[in-house]
Amino acid sequence: MQKPSRFETKVIHEGYNARDMLGSLTPPLFQTSTYVFDSAEQGEKRFKGEEEGYIYSRLGNPTVEILEEKIAALEKGERGLAFASGMAAVSAILLFLTKTQDHIICSAGLYGCTFGLLSMMKEKYGISVDFSNMRTEEEVRSLIKPETSVIYIETPINPTMQLIDLEKVVKVAKEAAIPVVVDNTFSTPYLQRPLEIGCDVVIHSATKYIGGHGDVIAGLLVGNKKLIEEVAMTTRKDIGGIISPFDAWLLLRGLKSLHVRMDRHCDNAEKLVEKLKNHPKIKHVYYPHEEQNPNFEIGKKQMARGGGMISFEMIGTKSDVQQFLNRLSLIKIAVSLGDAETLIEHPATMTHAVVPEKERQSMGITDQLVRLSVGLEAWEDIWEDLKQALEK
Ligand SMILES: *Cc1c(COP(=O)(O)O)cnc(C)c1O
Repeated sequence: MQKPSRFETKVIHEGYNARDMLGSLTPPLFQTSTYVFDSAEQGEKRFKGEEEGYIYSRLGNPTVEILEEKIAALEKGERGLAFASGMAAVSAILLFLTKTQDHIICSAGLYGCTFGLLSMMKEKYGISVDFSNMRTEEEVRSLIKPETSVIYIETPINPTMQLIDLEKVVKVAKEAAIPVVVDNTFSTPYLQRPLEIGCDVVIHSATKYIGGHGDVIAGLLVGNKKLIEEVAMTTRKDIGGIISPFDAWLLLRGLKSLHVRMDRHCDNAEKLVEKLKNHPKIKHVYYPHEEQNPNFEIGKKQMARGGGMISFEMIGTKSDVQQFLNRLSLIKIAVSLGDAETLIEHPATMTHAVVPEKERQSMGITDQLVRLSVGLEAWEDIWEDLKQALEK
């Protein structure tokens, strides 16, 4: 039989063969720190790279490698790499691709801690950053300098749900031979595959939709074999943000239902967008596949569906917004996303509090902006909770 190519089948079967593991249906958990050599000579050969085999779990672990193979297949990349957190993956790739005095072009809006990391890199290593909406090829081209070493993109952007046209960016980046790194956390490979468009590296906070059950913090990288193997043997090995085998095992368990969960997240989000849009207390709803969204065309082009994240701007003061959050009961106030439970947060005072006020305003993160991670509950129950909290 040919290797199955449909996403829904690959997400379950890819990267694992029960025959290799004594027939165990699910991947075994290799909860070990190190591996025993048959002889001193074998140890020498493994360290020299003359013989394949495991040495120490910071360098490689069978459970982790099943996960890495699966995510690589889903993102249509050659090689995957797992980390202790999304931020461990982000810092490993950014520190790998840059040196002092380099320059980074970055989407105008991104995860708060990634912003924090870029600020630290600027202060400590003189690496400058230009934030841009990358609306046109000219806009991207005009920002490129001889020392530009990365174009770093989030799309949809957290938390404003703005989109960046990856095809346009890739075209310019290829001319200048600059790698494009995309944080694909919000979309997952089920909805968006940046490597197919020509981007070079995909990042995930696997804490979110990949794990999907709010029980693990982890990160993933996918890209070409040469690049990812170099990251494995440098910034991952030596900085050491390594995933625990148990967390890799939890992600393998979560991943099996990714496609089913994502469709339900999207179904629920689409219903809620319609309701929120028509509520008088709501000024604006941001969702990739919403027709009035100025990025609608980009959304249709590069995302199969709109995803499970919605942000909206309320009418009122910061205190009104906080009181609205406090009145919710089914929906939990929490900063993660992509879980079965619907979660809500206030970016300006929570996830993006590290971003200075001026930048925050220019990114569109106002005091009135609320971010909703739509869960897997009945959408009617989610809406009833939102409605009572808006109207009380
Ligand atoms: C959560 C998140 C991260 C960071 O991931 P951790 O697993 O929390 O370290 C990075 N990017 C995006 C878009 C995120 O949502």
